[in-house]
Amino acid sequence: MVSIYLCGPTVVVPPHIGQIRSQVNFDILHRWLRHTGYRVRFCRNVTDIEDKIIGRSLAEGIQWWRVTEPVHRAFDRTFAALGCLPPSVEPRATGHIPEMIELIQQLVATGHAYEADGNVYFSVGSFPTYGELSGVRAEHLRSTEEHDRGKRDPRDFALWKRAKPGEPIWPAPWGEGRPGWHLECSAMARKYLGREFDIHGGGSNLIFPHHENEMAQSKAAGDSFARFWVHNGPVTQKGEKIRKEMRNALAVQTLLRRVRPIELRYYLAAAHYRSPMEFSTAAVEESATAFQRLERFALRFPAGPQGPPAPLPSQFRQAMDQDLNVPKALAAAHAAVTAGYAALRDGDQPAALRKNAEVRAMLGVLGLDPHDPQWSAETRVRDVAMAVLRIARNLASAERDRDQAAALHRRIDAALENCAVL
Ligand SMILES: [Zn+2]
Repeated sequence: MVSIYLCGPTVVVPPHIGQIRSQVNFDILHRWLRHTGYRVRFCRNVTDIEDKIIGRSLAEGIQWWRVTEPVHRAFDRTFAALGCLPPSVEPRATGHIPEMIELIQQLVATGHAYEADGNVYFSVGSFPTYGELSGVRAEHLRSTEEHDRGKRDPRDFALWKRAKPGEPIWPAPWGEGRPGWHLECSAMARKYLGREFDIHGGGSNLIFPHHENEMAQSKAAGDSFARFWVHNGPVTQKGEKIRKEMRNALAVQTLLRRVRPIELRYYLAAAHYRSPMEFSTAAVEESATAFQRLERFALRFPAGPQGPPAPLPSQFRQAMDQDLNVPKALAAAHAAVTAGYAALRDGDQPAALRKNAEVRAMLGVLGLDPHDPQWSAETRVRDVAMAVLRIARNLASAERDRDQAAALHRRIDAALENCAVL
């Protein structure tokens, strides 16, 4: 059994490609571990209470859950559309306030945390190995938090934030308030995976302060916590991390109007998980073309009766065992396609069939076998939806009255906003 905790989305805005990369990378790790015979317990949390969520709820004058619920559903639809296996458990922060309070009480009792004016802070100075994960030296740290009333040391971070007007609140021994962001993962990892688990994952942007703080809280409370840390690289555009104004263009829903979900999954899988990915639409489209080569060969023969998949070529297995080297593994799949076409040219049908089975086995492990019902059903629905969309756009464009035409296009756009397929 392998236990994995992956920091999941903060459900405040619909998913963009940077957030989805992590999910696809860890889905491949999940699948590879299962393929090699492990049972996997996979816990991915949902952060449904946090500063940005509260900020949006106050700005729009709606309850916090009216911000999080539709966004959570958009994430679920996207994970499913990209073929990510469902986690074993998907706990929400707001469902685990008692567990978080219990953890804070342990930290206060052992001198690793203190209450000040209704807030509770983790005392960084009480934990000598702070900075071990990120390499950030505690003595160089300054406070990054605004709620620092009563902090004894500017490096300390909030475990519990006292109630502020208009914010969601829960009762606690220190008065009403809400948890700090880092705490939820420590509490939920303990509840679902135990005091020691195998792999903790997330994007490299989470190493500091989030993961450093998670580790400090959990270890100070006596848990061994993660045995291994695995971090995926960021998605950048022109060398920059994704900023707010880039989000629309990089929203998964926007990208899925350009390429199919299976092609977007291939694009995200094809770079080594630790490398930064420089995003461009041209790169996504090029990657789709590369995938189509594999897909055409995989679909060249009928799927046949369900039997055990063909054995994986050793280059593929070795690549996957070497720190999940998916680019190298995909090179093995492309080489098998080349060999398959060569066999077809030589009229060697049995050899071509063997290569076809190999390609499908390799793609299957990566969640990319186009014969998989997930993709075939999805492709058919999407093809029909695309055809209808084209007809609607043509009809709207044929409308002579300009205002009427613009109104029709707006209605089509509005309908697309709620469309899970396109
Ligand atoms: Zn986390």
